[in-house]
Amino acid sequence: MIAREKTEAAGFKMEALLLVFISPFLVLMVASLVRRVYRLRKALRAQPDLRRCRCGYALTGLDIPRCPECGRAIGFDCTFEDLGIAEKDVRDYIERKKQADASGKPE
Ligand SMILES: [Zn+2]
Repeated sequence: MIAREKTEAAGFKMEALLLVFISPFLVLMVASLVRRVYRLRKALRAQPDLRRCRCGYALTGLDIPRCPECGRAIGFDCTFEDLGIAEKDVRDYIERKKQADASGKPE
């Protein structure tokens, strides 16, 4: 009976010892995880909102990649005219692309 109590006491000491050795690693792992989540949130906040033009107009449901408010080409900080592209050419390209996609043929 005494030997069993000694074994149980030794087992408890081992568990306590393991906890003492493992806890700093657990704390470091949690701290590392918290830091990663913080960095990810910061990176996501730093990205520009791609659904809005620089002028603030919501860029959803457009038939051509151009802001209806200020005329900027989406993805550029200038207009189609600044890029040397006519709006008609963009519309024609989009139409050809739609037809090619519908027929399954490459352009
Ligand atoms: Zn705009």
